[in-house]
Amino acid sequence: MAKKNQLGNRCAFCGGPTSPGAALLPSPIDPSVCICSDCLGQIYDLFGEELGVGRKSAEKTPARKGASKSKVPTPREINDFLNQYVIGQDDAKKYLSVAVYNHYKRLNQKESDLDPEVDIEKSNIIIVGPTGTGKTLLAKTIARLLDVPFTIVDATVLTEAGYVGEDIESLLTRLLQAADYDVERAQRGIVFIDEIDKIARKGDNPSITRDVSGEGVQQGLLKLLEGSVVNVPPQGGRKHPEAKMIPVDTKDILFICGGAFDGIERKIAHRLNTHVVGYSTSAAKQKIQRDNYLQYVAPQDLKSFGLIPEIIGRLPILTHLDPLDRDALLRVLTEPKNAIIRQYVKMFAMDGVKLTFEQDALELIVDKAIEYKLGARGLRSIVESIMVEAMFNTPGTKTKELTITRDYALEQIQKAHFETDIVK
Ligand code: ADP
Repeated sequence: MAKKNQLGNRCAFCGGPTSPGAALLPSPIDPSVCICSDCLGQIYDLFGEELGVGRKSAEKTPARKGASKSKVPTPREINDFLNQYVIGQDDAKKYLSVAVYNHYKRLNQKESDLDPEVDIEKSNIIIVGPTGTGKTLLAKTIARLLDVPFTIVDATVLTEAGYVGEDIESLLTRLLQAADYDVERAQRGIVFIDEIDKIARKGDNPSITRDVSGEGVQQGLLKLLEGSVVNVPPQGGRKHPEAKMIPVDTKDILFICGGAFDGIERKIAHRLNTHVVGYSTSAAKQKIQRDNYLQYVAPQDLKSFGLIPEIIGRLPILTHLDPLDRDALLRVLTEPKNAIIRQYVKMFAMDGVKLTFEQDALELIVDKAIEYKLGARGLRSIVESIMVEAMFNTPGTKTKELTITRDYALEQIQKAHFETDIVK
């Protein structure tokens, strides 16, 4: 055993680390066996070209450099691309398109060093929106389009050093992994931090369920958002005193944060009502759409929710997502490129079966999702419960066509005991 532990601190190839900055990458199968970054570099140099991987080929292919100058999509193109996958949310799409485009511009400007006097600072983004309205979907769709490393991390797993959970730096580990440990590429990547509202300061936010004060995590996160060189554990999780760290500069990493901020509407409403009464005419007061306060979200609401001002300052682009109404849910079901219904149609087509859904069956699915308060997230499980019988019975039979009617859908939902399962 002693031998194994010793091996864990040394490279199994050269016995090193030989150079002071070399990092050790443990094997995912046996973490006691490591390889150092020097040896990895040599492997890439020797075999990378033949295999079309590694740093040599990465350096030669402009596309792999990330933000390649020749094909930076314009904000409109980014927006059009998002439209293919995400229903509604026009405001957020516009902000994201501009932010991502500017991210590319900054990177390109840095490269060519056009004007060293003017340093365009990055603009990280924060998206406020109810759960299941497309925050993650927007981020994932952006990732499809982009040629920069991208990762999604959940803020709820992050804790201050010393507590159970993952160190804040571990979110950069994911980015490094997405960049195949190419630090230069990772430094130009995008990180989506989900559930940022869950690290709001305790006390200011009554709905908080964490026992570790979110403020420490926010302070830790601030360091990353501001742009600094952070030592990242190659395997994530908690830092190990003996593990070699990889230094990553976060100056050019774009951070997109998302959160539901449950209850923030009350704070927005409070602010609007006091302000309007105090300073404006009653005409202005009437303009406020009271069914969707989220659209008026402002930095001060994030502060009253429990985000520290420094964090808010580092997330200068603030946008919101609208709740999805019945019409939007119907569109979610059928319109996006990878809409749920399209996926089932494709699955059946692979068995030579033409699957169709009658309009009132689709409406039933949406109504049930609303009734169970599941929103867009519930659509898939409802469709799954309707389709499971057919998916079990149809393959291997001579069936060539299958039409889902409202009655059939209702029968299957009732059979699946959906109601008893969910409404507990
Ligand atoms: P959240 O806002 O909680 O991150 P998600 O983006 O994960 O929500 O949405 C959950 C699922 O609901 C998605 O995978 C997608 O199928 C569907 N969905 C939610 N909002 C939209 C939308 N605006 N357009 C299309 N599909 C959506």
